[in-house]
Amino acid sequence: DSLTEGLDELARELDNEHVFHSWSAQSQHSTLTVASGRGSRVWDHSGREYLDFSSQLVNVNIGHQHPAVVQAIREQAELLTTIAPSTVNLARGEAAKRIVARAPSGFHKVFFTNGGADANENAIRMARLHTGRDKILSTYRSYHGNTGAAVVATGDWRRVPNEFARAHVHFFGPYLYRSEFWASTPEEESERALRHLRRVIESEGPSSIAAVLLETIPGTAGIMLPPPGYLAGVRELCDRHGIMLILDEVMCGFGRSGRWFAFDGYDVRPDLITFAKGVNSGYVPAGGVVISDPIAATFDDRVFPGGLTYSGHPLAMASIVATLDAMESESIVEHAREIGAESIGPALEDLTERHEAIGEVRGEGVFWAMELVTDRKTREPLPAAAMGRLKSALVGRGLLPFVMENRIHVVPPCVVTAEEVADAMAIYDEVLSTALEGEG
Ligand code: PLP
Repeated sequence: DSLTEGLDELARELDNEHVFHSWSAQSQHSTLTVASGRGSRVWDHSGREYLDFSSQLVNVNIGHQHPAVVQAIREQAELLTTIAPSTVNLARGEAAKRIVARAPSGFHKVFFTNGGADANENAIRMARLHTGRDKILSTYRSYHGNTGAAVVATGDWRRVPNEFARAHVHFFGPYLYRSEFWASTPEEESERALRHLRRVIESEGPSSIAAVLLETIPGTAGIMLPPPGYLAGVRELCDRHGIMLILDEVMCGFGRSGRWFAFDGYDVRPDLITFAKGVNSGYVPAGGVVISDPIAATFDDRVFPGGLTYSGHPLAMASIVATLDAMESESIVEHAREIGAESIGPALEDLTERHEAIGEVRGEGVFWAMELVTDRKTREPLPAAAMGRLKSALVGRGLLPFVMENRIHVVPPCVVTAEEVADAMAIYDEVLSTALEGEG
């Protein structure tokens, strides 16, 4: 009705006048309004419905407004909404216990942060202080967050133990579809990417390298599942040189890949695990680092020079406890694995057969990418203008997509149903037919 439609208008007006948005030229920011949600669907104030195949920023793994999580936040809010991180708090211990229970043996401690970027900041800090080394190696095709200057700007003593030279070195990870190594099989890609990393480590000086930081499955960069032997090979290189391995599970963790941790599917054991997003589906901002025993022991008698006002915030902790319990009791991770193998994967293969513009689909669980090209042979990425048209057409037909460069990431909540997958696929199918006319 006109009253609720008025709220959409009001929301857009206020947003346009006063809200400054992430990663955007402000004049070109989207006007899509979301007022409420449930499971894999969201609505604006006037009741227009969208299928959320983005899980927002690939974080709403349990779906929108899971009643048990909402209830747990409500109950915690009535008991205690905030408390300093230095105090002992039961919700924090319960959350940490549940996260550690999903980690490999030899992990007993969790450091809580506000999100994924500060999880990586703190994991890097731990690796540097534990090894006494400085350099961090990570891949060009990665996203690890956007913080970095605050502690160096700090004037008091807390700056000093953090004044590393901050050397960051990048290398290429495996990505067979656009191989940097002229590889034609996953095995070749794995072997050559490992040789490249070995050469980078040797050339940088192994004893200067604190850590290799990797997304177990690179997410925003394109959902590239690591080829056979790659992660085990990275682990071996790290072991040979006393380098810590930090696996960033911020996007791929907590059900996204169809496993609790994505690395559970590979022969690899990290030294530090960073998480955020799916751990509580972002109902309250939270992230953290799961710390292996030797690194934790470094700080038994030595001050850890890192902290946050909201580390282990009670509302975030209560939401983690309820999220992990619901994911367990409702077999949500298993559902993500099955819906990927039985519905999403086959449906995307089918779409690929019907649309020349799809160069490749890849993924598992509820973590898939469609790579769009102008020509299957040259693999020339579909240009930005065409991607923009696809994105608007998808939203216009009631699907919230995750679009990155020339890719559509198919990343619904873990609780998505087979019917919702079928509905989404019909929308992708129609839009790929109509929005790309005259393309390629
Ligand atoms: N690491 C990965 C793999 C991510 O995908 C992201 C966010 O997309 C981050 C870290 C940063 O997390 P946040 O935005 O919570 O700081």
